[in-house]
Amino acid sequence: MSKSLQAIRGMNDILPEQTPLWRYLEGSVASLLDGYGYRQIRMPIVEFTELFKRSIGEVTDIVEKEMYTFADRNGDSLTLRPEGTAACVRAVLEHGLAGAGQTQKLWYIGPMFRHERPQKGRYRQFHQIGVEVFNLDGPDIDAELIVLTWRLWGLLGIRDAVTLELNSLGTSEARATYREALVEYLAARADQLDEDSRRRLSSNPLRILDSKSPETQALLIDAPKLADYLDDESRVHFEGLKARLDVAGIPYVINPKLVRGLDYYSKTVFEWVTDQLGAQGTVCAGGRYDGLVEQMGGKPTPGVGFAMGIERLVLMVETLGKVPAEIARQIDLYVCAFGEPAELAALSLAERLRDQLPGVRLQVNAGAGSFKSQFKKADKSGALYALILGEDELAQQVVGCKPLRDQGEQQSIAWDALAEHLATCLEQP
Ligand code: ATP
Ligand code: MG
Repeated sequence: MSKSLQAIRGMNDILPEQTPLWRYLEGSVASLLDGYGYRQIRMPIVEFTELFKRSIGEVTDIVEKEMYTFADRNGDSLTLRPEGTAACVRAVLEHGLAGAGQTQKLWYIGPMFRHERPQKGRYRQFHQIGVEVFNLDGPDIDAELIVLTWRLWGLLGIRDAVTLELNSLGTSEARATYREALVEYLAARADQLDEDSRRRLSSNPLRILDSKSPETQALLIDAPKLADYLDDESRVHFEGLKARLDVAGIPYVINPKLVRGLDYYSKTVFEWVTDQLGAQGTVCAGGRYDGLVEQMGGKPTPGVGFAMGIERLVLMVETLGKVPAEIARQIDLYVCAFGEPAELAALSLAERLRDQLPGVRLQVNAGAGSFKSQFKKADKSGALYALILGEDELAQQVVGCKPLRDQGEQQSIAWDALAEHLATCLEQP
């Protein structure tokens, strides 16, 4: 017997029961970002592999072991995007969107691909909403990004379940000095480091700070601290950010070990974390990347952004019981018709109602069926009213209008008066 066809591990179908919640979340974020003056950009899902190597960094987890890379038919090495910042910067450069100091506030949404171990909240195809801002270097815009996510948590009713963690990585110069001090300290104690950390000592020593090994963490207690190496400019920037968060009433925790997985961050880094999702606790993460555009071949251009994982948002809203009841019902009216002449009348009546009541959600029974079976379908559809057209109704040019969700009586409504009648019915809560 042939093996049954299956989706790829870690790549999920989002089934019809789940899409209303997805659309609600995506719609909430989109209108929020509209309201702050951000504009959407859409990039391809596939890019040249080189783009990610150059922007994310060769010695990161993503580039070392998580990318879906393949050869195009002409031999080019292509990669399914593991994140959105690289492609967004590429697009900004390619189209000159940030030329001559022009400010850009952009956002995007879509699938990302990483070959990770699938588990709750961690998948191989997952979805992100990302925001990137170019040519603004002050703490005011860093604060705005955090303020707007805080507003989103409020809108979604999950504010109490998330914590903001903050750190400053300093300028790349400050980080280089710190890196030297850290490497010097750790190299003298290399025999006590876990294997991953020992490897990172030469490739990406800052990542050792968020090592999961207790021995390594113990070793780090007396290690040089990044905060002591911050340059004045970064310190002033960080203070400016904190002052703004204080004014906005947004609580935060300074986490000196927060370094983020990607090479390109500088100054501000932040994560919104939750204890509701087990090990996959980061819902939204971001930071400043003032050197990235230049590193990718552009003129020096400050940048800052974040990305949030939609799957983790979905899990959070579900876990906390914050799925709004009204997003589940998808149909207002269900039209039942009995016999060919009634079906024909139902079709034109339904189209007329769609003209007269824009936005009405109306389903016409398809596949005929007995009185009983059509009512069953009407009920299952979740519709508030069934509209009934049989021989008698046809003869009298009326429709039977039957409430499905309460005890009301079925009423006979003339075709000409139907739209007005339904408008009043559907308005009532
Ligand atoms: P993590 O530490 O959980 O691996 P990350 O630092 O790799 O996250 P980013 O690259 O900053 O994550 O991506 C931003 C957000 O995208 C994360 O905070 C998370 O919500 C989401 N995300 C990242 N990887 C995955 C994944 N494999 N599956 C689902 N969501 C993910
Ligand atoms: Mg990761």
